[in-house]
Amino acid sequence: MLERLSASCESCDRPLNDEKQVITFERNGCIRHVYECSCRAVTITVSRD
Ligand SMILES: [Zn+2]
Repeated sequence: MLERLSASCESCDRPLNDEKQVITFERNGCIRHVYECSCRAVTITVSRD
């Protein structure tokens, strides 16, 4: 598994973890992780392979 930067919700600043990860996709060589927080805000993080 790839290393990820720790992410927090852009709305409520709660830490995001794998349980909240809903989508992973790749674009231009970067893996993007989409998280949905329990506050319903969506945060996208990018990690390079
Ligand atoms: Zn949140």
